Amino acid sequence: MTGILCNDIHSKLNPTRVARLLHPASEAEVVAALKEAARDGMAVSICGARHAMGGQQFGEGTLLLDLCGLTGLGELDRERGTIEAGAGIKWPELIEGLHARQAGEEVVWSIRQKQTGADDLTLGGSLAANIHGRGLNLCPIIGDVEAFTLVDATGEVRRCSRGENAERFRLAIGGYGCFGVITSVCLRLAPRIKMERLVEVTTIDRLLSSLQRRIADGCLFGDFQFSIDERSPDFLCRGVLSSYRPVAPDSEMPDEREELERHHWEELIRLAHDDRAKVFEVYSSFYLRTHGALYWSDTHQLSVYLEDYHAALDHECGAEVPASEMISELYVPRDRLIEFMAAAAERLKDGAVPVIYGTVRLIRCDEESFLAWAREDFACVIFNLHTEHSEAGIATAAEAFRALIDLALSFGGSYFLTYHRWARRDQIERAYPQFAEFLRVKDAHDPDGRFQSEWWRHYRNLFEMP
Ligand SMILES: Cc1cc2nc3c(=O)[nH]c(=O)nc-3n(C[C@H](O)[C@H](O)[C@H](O)COP(=O)(O)OP(=O)(O)OC[C@H]3O[C@@H](n4cnc5c(N)ncnc54)[C@H](O)[C@@H]3O)c2cc1C
Repeated sequence: MTGILCNDIHSKLNPTRVARLLHPASEAEVVAALKEAARDGMAVSICGARHAMGGQQFGEGTLLLDLCGLTGLGELDRERGTIEAGAGIKWPELIEGLHARQAGEEVVWSIRQKQTGADDLTLGGSLAANIHGRGLNLCPIIGDVEAFTLVDATGEVRRCSRGENAERFRLAIGGYGCFGVITSVCLRLAPRIKMERLVEVTTIDRLLSSLQRRIADGCLFGDFQFSIDERSPDFLCRGVLSSYRPVAPDSEMPDEREELERHHWEELIRLAHDDRAKVFEVYSSFYLRTHGALYWSDTHQLSVYLEDYHAALDHECGAEVPASEMISELYVPRDRLIEFMAAAAERLKDGAVPVIYGTVRLIRCDEESFLAWAREDFACVIFNLHTEHSEAGIATAAEAFRALIDLALSFGGSYFLTYHRWARRDQIERAYPQFAEFLRVKDAHDPDGRFQSEWWRHYRNLFEMP
């Protein structure tokens, strides 16, 4: 069989055979690749670190451009607090690069937000999904973007911002690579500050008032990690609320503090699979011990990611079929969160698809991107569901996710397009009424269908586009 087999890193449920793979190392090489593809009538897919889980980064038979080589750091504007960075740069390199540039300076500019749970994700992939972190007052990353450079289907290079090529700016952020290759990003930064972690164990009915209190108290980040034990009344109800409040700049940072190391995470993930009551005890007692500990506003957002952990787990448990965790993120108006969580607990309590991990976070409304998922100030609920890679296992997980989407929609909410493409057409139309228009606008910008992915092809078929 010809071609190169690719897959996403986390779910491993998107095996796709691309025709060719190129690793451009400069914008000029991206332009040349796109011109050559246009000449040869070849469709192009675009990937960064390959963590999206709905086939957005690969297209069967396409030329795959892997942008991870575009890692340059350009101008740091200390007046405005912005940095120009290559779209292939990953968060740890970006943070380290910023620190190195500003060593010994009084004000150190650094990132405002990044994803939780994984660090080796590219800036380009982050823009294309319009990601968010655990900010308590932040909108998705579009709010952190000043401008970017985009190479379109014909190989033309354009700078896009709110004042220049504004339509492309709105389309490409959250546009999953459908409008061109982002080569470089001007990212808005924030001064790096010291913060203390405040930890409490609370319940879902008190969560929003606790969060409001924390926000009023100055906390900038936070999340609530809930119990995943479906046999307990605490299921999706009791959880650990961690929030982060700025402290005086001259506060002494500790040389050492208790951290969850790699082996702790391995143990937690194993417990989440075979002792879901204990995992909460272990996790919450660790967090409670760190109440009052000091962290930096940028590096506290970094986390341990266990590459390929599920293969080891499958082996250890003697699993007959491989499995992985599939993620979903549901959004609900904040005043419907309690009802949503109760309904989700009712749906998931049979344990047919065990919840391995879950959190609640907050998001502020995104009024800018075309395919905005943060239509209002939502509560965001993340579920990691154990998914067996058999036909029946995938069908059961897909059904559970569709049920969760139905619940979120019934409370006036929505869901994130980054994970899986299992939603029904009526669900996507309710969550994203602009989706058919999104596909039409993509065709208008790219009439030859240069940019193609399995994700885009799926939705074109679902929406019966000509
Ligand atoms: C364990 C885990 C935790 C996560 N946590 C969060 C979270 O906390 N918050 C959140 O919002 N998301 C989260 N995500 C989702 C993740 O942020 C997105 O899927 C993101 O797009 C992945 O970036 P990537 O570099 O891996 O991109 P890829 O998966 O390689 O690509 C994703 C999309 O971006 C496009 N793309 C990539 N690079 C470019 C470029 N240079 N130009 C144009 N298009 C490009 C691709 O075509 C594709 O459509 C998580 C995912 C995982 C697996």
